[in-house]
Amino acid sequence: MNEGKSNLFSNGVPESLMNSIEEATGMKRGRATLIKAVFHSLHTYWARIFNLPKTVLNKIDAMCRTFLWHGNEAKERPALVSWDRICKPVKQGGLGFKNLHKWNIASIGKYVWWIEAKADHLWVRWVHAIYLKHQNWHNYNPSPSSSWAWRKICWVKEILKQFLFEASWKATGQQYTSKIGYRWLDEEGMKVVWHPWMSNRMLQPKHTFFIWLVAQNRLLTQDRLLKMHIIQANCCFLCGSEEENIDHLFFNCLFSKRCLNLLAQWLQVIIHENEVIHWWIHLRVRSLLVKHIIAAGVATLMYQIWYYRNYCRIDQVVPRPVIVFQSVRTQVCTRIRCKTEIGMSSIAKKWTDSLIARM
Ligand SMILES: [Zn+2]
Repeated sequence: MNEGKSNLFSNGVPESLMNSIEEATGMKRGRATLIKAVFHSLHTYWARIFNLPKTVLNKIDAMCRTFLWHGNEAKERPALVSWDRICKPVKQGGLGFKNLHKWNIASIGKYVWWIEAKADHLWVRWVHAIYLKHQNWHNYNPSPSSSWAWRKICWVKEILKQFLFEASWKATGQQYTSKIGYRWLDEEGMKVVWHPWMSNRMLQPKHTFFIWLVAQNRLLTQDRLLKMHIIQANCCFLCGSEEENIDHLFFNCLFSKRCLNLLAQWLQVIIHENEVIHWWIHLRVRSLLVKHIIAAGVATLMYQIWYYRNYCRIDQVVPRPVIVFQSVRTQVCTRIRCKTEIGMSSIAKKWTDSLIARM
């Protein structure tokens, strides 16, 4: 492979292709925000009122899933991360999407609670007069001839009754809300150690999404492609001498080590490339903002390594590490200028000023 090419767009690789490599992750992050802010908000509204059929919920899930990974809702192809995982809270390694099935159950739970609490609604009085007729709501079973909507409410009652009718919860005197019901249904899982990277505002959104994939080993590196029998041999595109996997590509490859050294010199830290997440968590610096900027530097470098690795795969040309580092440095400085205007401590300001001065 050639090394030392400085003009990265002049050797037969269309710029549009390079842009598509870069935009792939950024677009997914944008789509994730769109799904959360728009599609799921629409669903949340209707789920608060109606008991939605399972097929409808499955269809909404499938549309959101294909839109997230492929940008449209027509194709169903394998995803890099399971939908169940994506629907976990950020601290548990997900993207914080709502599980629509659980949210619908939690929302309908309010009708169950109104009946239990004999809330002052015309509908509740009607239910007690027509359906329950002084029967115990806790043990009530609907007749097979009842309407689908009523049987569905009774089904939700069976799911939630272990929480909703519990004396200890009733004793709190709280009003039931969909949020409380969702918390009951969404069992708390293990927190992932890397979740602080996901809420670091110094990371660009596309870098956050990228780190989320890396942390779960979901990038399509050659070791994974080999396991899937998509390729026949595994050889790192950047050094050409070792097998490619996440650890090798970002931390142990000679090329990546050179980039990391340049970054470490600029940030004036010693990066422990074998345990980057743990190194960063235990890193002691004078300000949290400084710590977040260091994480942004590492994340931006990893993203750039992946970007140039894809470029090498197409063009067989390895850029000089200094070019990769310069790109990282420019992006980190731009992010600092955009995000640290307000509320920065004097210690952090001094540090960021000296960092920008070392450009
Ligand atoms: Zn390598």
